[in-house]
Amino acid sequence: METSLKIQVRRIEKPPYIVDKSRLKRFKYKDVLFERVMWDKSWKGYRRLYNERTLEIIKERKPGYSRIDFALAYASWIVHDAFKGGFSWNRIKLYREPAASISIDWSRIKQNVDDPHKMSLILKRAAKFFGADLIGICRLNRDWLYEEVELPEQYKYAIVMAIEMDPEGIATSPSPIAAAATGVGYSKMAFLLACMGEFIRNLGYNAIQCGNDTALSIPLAIDAGLGELGRNGLLITPEYGPRVRLCKIFTDMPLEVDKPIEFGVKDFCRKCKLCAENCEAGAISMEDEPSFQIKCKSNNPGALKWYVDVEKCYLYWCENGIDCSTCIKVCPYNLITSKKMDVTPDEFWKIEDYSK
Ligand code: SF4
Ligand code: SF4
Repeated sequence: METSLKIQVRRIEKPPYIVDKSRLKRFKYKDVLFERVMWDKSWKGYRRLYNERTLEIIKERKPGYSRIDFALAYASWIVHDAFKGGFSWNRIKLYREPAASISIDWSRIKQNVDDPHKMSLILKRAAKFFGADLIGICRLNRDWLYEEVELPEQYKYAIVMAIEMDPEGIATSPSPIAAAATGVGYSKMAFLLACMGEFIRNLGYNAIQCGNDTALSIPLAIDAGLGELGRNGLLITPEYGPRVRLCKIFTDMPLEVDKPIEFGVKDFCRKCKLCAENCEAGAISMEDEPSFQIKCKSNNPGALKWYVDVEKCYLYWCENGIDCSTCIKVCPYNLITSKKMDVTPDEFWKIEDYSK
């Protein structure tokens, strides 16, 4: 299925979301769903891990749920999980240390930034070089920091980057192959963040590299002009729809910010509802209009949107044996750069002789 969706992006002065300042609070990291799995006895997902049924599921011999498919998914996360430099707040390592005869700590010598516009372009070029598919810069709105985080005032800017996920992999959702596409996104994030963090430090400024930790990524991405919020609770970008993973760097380097964008996502979502209709968990709202009504404790109140019942979503993941990306694959905005909505596991694993 190919989409005929026409996208016209315009730059706007203020982010295209509505918040009720009297209700909006900094979100508690401990209320993030994955954290609540470990401590919150008040819900059904307490201590339920979504790999608990994996062996049973493999024995069922369903297409797309073989040992090979799960092996791919688990392998995809390894760089994210094992390379701690990906999420560092400090210098990771000096250049070629200890192989180089002289290791200069460039972070002690500040690059003069007399043209923040030019510096921002240089950062964007570097980010593309290191693997970002989208990059935007915004002033750091501290409402989006997790409540538990203390960030010194000098960090005024957020560099927000998006990494495209493999379209064919996502199109197999809810198979573990789709989860592998997600895991690859996270592992690439660790590489991108580490290189960008060190690049900024090599110019004498501070860099705090973050994945999903430290602050909410989606509102920051909206502030930085990468996209708008969709009914599925995800960032919708004009380039890849919701088929991206997000990461960000906070810095004290003087930069030029980007304006937010608008391209009609809220109006389109009012009628579309494809993500809600296809969600096996019934976790996505079918209401015509967005509201301030949260669905569970892991929603952050105070924004006008379609709140996703992430508890239901997670419980479905436990049944599925792994995470799901169906609300990404069916989104018409995803289909702008993805050729097919559905890919079977056999189509994904089409075996070619790469030795030719
Ligand atoms: S990830 Fe899957 S279960 Fe969760 S909201 Fe999206 S479609 Fe529903
Ligand atoms: S599937 Fe439709 S309703 Fe859901 S986020 Fe995409 S455009 Fe919006």
